Amino acid sequence: MSDPAATATVAYQAILQLVQGVEPRIAEAITAELHDQRHSLKLIASENYASLPALLGMGTWLSDKYAEGTIGHRFYAGCQNIDTVESVAAEHARALFGAEYAYVQPHSGIDANLVAYWAILSHFVETPALKTLGAKTVNDLDQADWDKLRHDLGNQRLMGMSLDAGGHLTHGFRHNISGKMFDQRSYGTDPLTGLIDYEAIRKQALEFSPLILVAGYSAYPRRIDFAKMREIADEAGAVLMVDMSHFAGLVAGKVFTGDENPVPFAQVVTTTTHKSLRGPRGGMVLATSEFADDVDRGCPMVLGGPLGHMMAGKAIALAEARQPSFQTYAQQVADNAKALADGLLKRGATLVTGGTDNHIVLLDVAGSFGLTGRQAEGALLDSGIVTNRNSIPHDPNGAWYTSGIRLGTPALTTRGFSADDMDRVAELIVQALRATTPTTTSQGTPGKAKYTIGDGVADATKAAADELLGHHPLYPGLEL
Ligand SMILES: *Cc1c(COP(=O)(O)O)cnc(C)c1O
Repeated sequence: MSDPAATATVAYQAILQLVQGVEPRIAEAITAELHDQRHSLKLIASENYASLPALLGMGTWLSDKYAEGTIGHRFYAGCQNIDTVESVAAEHARALFGAEYAYVQPHSGIDANLVAYWAILSHFVETPALKTLGAKTVNDLDQADWDKLRHDLGNQRLMGMSLDAGGHLTHGFRHNISGKMFDQRSYGTDPLTGLIDYEAIRKQALEFSPLILVAGYSAYPRRIDFAKMREIADEAGAVLMVDMSHFAGLVAGKVFTGDENPVPFAQVVTTTTHKSLRGPRGGMVLATSEFADDVDRGCPMVLGGPLGHMMAGKAIALAEARQPSFQTYAQQVADNAKALADGLLKRGATLVTGGTDNHIVLLDVAGSFGLTGRQAEGALLDSGIVTNRNSIPHDPNGAWYTSGIRLGTPALTTRGFSADDMDRVAELIVQALRATTPTTTSQGTPGKAKYTIGDGVADATKAAADELLGHHPLYPGLEL
């Protein structure tokens, strides 16, 4: 019983047995998910595998306590243990990122961004205007109401990266609250190189004068110069907010240092905790002391009661990320992305920006294989490779079918994949996509959704992927 994996096996068996007695379908789904995670080549750039300690920290009675408020100032009695959990998580977050202030309550990345937006607004703007919200539900607000609300708030302006260029929904997209509550403009990337064009952003920011300049992305395969972004924000009189949801693990692991580390340059930094940072599903806000009180208004302004069990998971994952081994991991994530990109390039594929220097590779499947993202995503899934389709800049196939596939290395690197393994992954991807052809429509043109894969290729690729996965077991020793 001294082997931790063996102990965890026994613990999980006991838990699953209890669940089985109540709702067997859920016990089955839990086991099936572990099986699926183990047997798929997971290249989804936003996913990872949390450690057993982080997972077990979540499955506890810390979930059963209400603790609205902040550490030491709760609206409920008896919050001493949640105080401990939240303080420890915040202490690790501050130390790990060198941040003046850390707020670990947000339940997700979107929540973290809402907390951050509200913090910045309330720092600068009087808020009686929000009373107009009390009159109706938010769903009843028409464009004129939104315009009035924005006007009363001082018609605050937000500038972020466009979805199309790799930005996130929460950076001002029109179907997200960020696009409704702000007068919003987005910046793209250079049409020729696919790279961020700082001069163009500077020019746009000076013309538009946003209150908030957002930097950060979900699908951009390059690093950002945050010193330059801060310079632009200062010149335009904006607050620099960086959403490092995707690359927090590379910041934590000291791969992004100097001007590539957002924390010394942004007044407010938001992140998820479950992507490259490899923790439980959740969010976090880091801020300079100037914004600490504003960020603390997250609950109850935007968030309900904090999730004590999730904050425990965050504390454990953040403690893990402070170990030297996490720096080795983060460097390997970047090295593996480079190896994957090189492996694709040398087999003739086209990549957005021509390569990568973070954890993301954006494969142009239209240019490389004459497929839509939807077809490539499907063909890869049939071949045991899990990815997601993604728009590429100026995407000819639109946001639904897309022309790209986003690939990321945080998950496979957690399993111990090396640069050589990533070259083999590139080979399998190219093998599967070369054998895929779009199904012709009744008009005789290539369709956007359906495809066929050459005889036996999907099965052969799947078998090869499974063999590769067999060399790097997920949760070794955990026998479920
Ligand atoms: C994933 C992501 C989010 C949202 O995170 P959720 O936890 O899914 O809400 C926000 N911003 C960026 C840049 C992201 O990549």
